[in-house]
Amino acid sequence: MGFSTDAVHAGQEPDPVTGSVTVPIYQTSTYVQEELGKHKGFEYARTQNPTRFALEKNVATLERGARGFAFASGMAAITAVTYLLKSGDHVVASNNMYGGTYRLFEKVLTSYGLSFTYVNTGDLKATEAAFRPTTRMLFVETPTNPSMIVSDLRALAELARSRNALLVVDNTFMTPYFQRPIELGAHLVVHSTTKYLNGHSDMVGGIVISSDPAASERLQFVQNAAGAVPGPFDCWLCLRGIKTLALRMERHNQSALAIAEWLAGQSKLKKVFYPGLKNHPGHELHKRQASGFGGMIAFETGSIERGAAFLRATRLFALAESLGGVESLISHPATMTHASVPKSERESVGLTDGLVRISVGIEDLDDLIRDLEGALAAL
Ligand SMILES: *Cc1c(COP(=O)(O)O)cnc(C)c1O
Repeated sequence: MGFSTDAVHAGQEPDPVTGSVTVPIYQTSTYVQEELGKHKGFEYARTQNPTRFALEKNVATLERGARGFAFASGMAAITAVTYLLKSGDHVVASNNMYGGTYRLFEKVLTSYGLSFTYVNTGDLKATEAAFRPTTRMLFVETPTNPSMIVSDLRALAELARSRNALLVVDNTFMTPYFQRPIELGAHLVVHSTTKYLNGHSDMVGGIVISSDPAASERLQFVQNAAGAVPGPFDCWLCLRGIKTLALRMERHNQSALAIAEWLAGQSKLKKVFYPGLKNHPGHELHKRQASGFGGMIAFETGSIERGAAFLRATRLFALAESLGGVESLISHPATMTHASVPKSERESVGLTDGLVRISVGIEDLDDLIRDLEGALAAL
């Protein structure tokens, strides 16, 4: 089936009991068993929940993976993926990824015998050079957040496979509507479903999609054993959000491209980061592996004072963490999403104090541009 058809239907056959068109919210902790050892395949809701299963099947289909495992947050999903590693293993990761992932790796997992090297994964040679004999995982975001560095997923998949490492791609920014890393060779895809997949800023969740049988088996075990599962209502909200994913992503993409081009023409801004701009260094590569550019834009205002003035002056773009919802948001990565990344590390990837990030929502484009115009006038 086509993507939009799968988004609406995959994993969501009408309920066999009542014919309910939407998947019911199975708000239960346990299931009655007929007799010892005889049940309908559902024993306890940490292990099995039909609403969660529907979400897992749906996103696995959209990402063209074999299995999906839903979690209570994007970070819980990423944590579960790291349980595939063991003490002594080494991970190569993108040096400009989500700040919370960096924090988990550096401030939590290094205490458990794992080690990490951060590298510009847009540079294939540098990425290859970062590999050690103990490297078991390559963890990549493309485009990165917020400097929008694009990495070659096909080449990275080949590199990971040749070194017996898993390629994990955080596909939160692109969604499977625009980019399907598993089709390009990745073993695992992770999402913060909090963002575009749910799309309405009303829940927190995560998911891992696997194309690797051994990893799938272990993830299923870990999901139950560590237990960071999402509640059924959040799974249901996400399923509802995904039904309009294709429509929303088209609009996010269309408006963001128009806004990025407009921003690039403003003399008060030093630099605009958006993979859809023809002069973006990763533009051509991105077009070879994705069918759209997404709704995230970052731009350089020049200083923290100018950045703060801009943030104060928008009315429609609300100052908030997060992204990917129907409403437009604005944020300051250096003090918000990436505050846990040391300043020297931030600045080496262009994440300066003057950088402002916007998540372009689905409001009227004219209103959005007028809002940004007003904020620019305040600089
Ligand atoms: C938000 C985000 C996460 C973390 O997800 P949560 O749902 O907030 O735990 C991970 N990766 C990226 C790219 C994100 O934007």
